[in-house]
Amino acid sequence: MRYKAIFIDIDDTLLDYVPCCREAFNMALPEHPEHFDLFFAISGRLFSEAKHGLHTIAEVMDLYPQEFIAAIGYPEEAVEPFKQAFRAAWGTTHTLVPGAKEMLETLRAKGYRLFAASNSFGHLQRSRLEHAGILPYFEDTYISMDIGYDKPDIRFYQEALRRAGLQPHEVLMIGDSMTTDVIGAQQAGIDARFFDRKNADLYQLIADL
Ligand SMILES: [Mg+2]
Repeated sequence: MRYKAIFIDIDDTLLDYVPCCREAFNMALPEHPEHFDLFFAISGRLFSEAKHGLHTIAEVMDLYPQEFIAAIGYPEEAVEPFKQAFRAAWGTTHTLVPGAKEMLETLRAKGYRLFAASNSFGHLQRSRLEHAGILPYFEDTYISMDIGYDKPDIRFYQEALRRAGLQPHEVLMIGDSMTTDVIGAQQAGIDARFFDRKNADLYQLIADL
């Protein structure tokens, strides 16, 4: 085998981000489903800015509830309850990307060590993988808030390699973000594959492994 281990991004690679986000939003603010698009636009912009180093993921987790609650004209006191409700709900959301479980099954059957590699809260991402029934496929989960650095920071990948006891050439990174997953991993000397959901499925992505 060319690689010993596969690092796999979570959102929009294994779990479907938009339906998960909508579900958590509707649980956090059930009286106003019509505000989802605004919420999604605000959080999307902030996460995109984080990819380019303008904020840390930890900062974004506080910023988007603040901006959203202000944008819908709710008082500042509403920020914290909304934030907590959204996070609690988010930890249960687990819509799978089609083929995700089958991909993990195939890779494990072929003998690869599997690790999740994601920018978020560790306990929430593990909870989501568990709800989706795919946590047992992973030997460990490397989540930015636990690791101390966000992808694409090279130190995220270096720390993940250190924890797994692997060399860069032994690992392949798979993810849907050219910035955080592909370029980030490559800068750490790790081969990476871009998961382009519009044009390919997960099976095609790993067919030659
Ligand atoms: Mg992703």
